[in-house]
Amino acid sequence: MARPQVLWALGYAAGAAAMAFWLWSRAGSWGLLLGLMLGVIATHFGIHLVIYLVEMIWLGRPPIPDCRRGRCGGADYYVELQEGRKTYLCRCGVRYRRRGLRFLEIAADGREIPFRRWRQFRGWFPDFKF
Ligand SMILES: [Zn+2]
Repeated sequence: MARPQVLWALGYAAGAAAMAFWLWSRAGSWGLLLGLMLGVIATHFGIHLVIYLVEMIWLGRPPIPDCRRGRCGGADYYVELQEGRKTYLCRCGVRYRRRGLRFLEIAADGREIPFRRWRQFRGWFPDFKF
């Protein structure tokens, strides 16, 4: 299995090579040089645009909202597996679970209480109805 860095480098190289070849076939050797540079830049923006869209539409950004008390952010949560599902324990001792675009608080009796809901391109909003 290739390391991620290798895949990233290959992706950039492929983008640069494609652009270089395309410009080279039209503008000759200067096109080759320009194409290599433009290809790297275009690949960079293309990859980050895709990541941005995926986060804004399907994942949420940050992927986990601040906790109910507002004290814990994404890195403060401790991830556990409960019955095969990911559970997020914040430093205040409250458990949360993600379900689709919803972030639910888990009460002591196991009930799921609506807490936050990701709205595409807008952010995490209070979730009132279930
Ligand atoms: Zn907390």
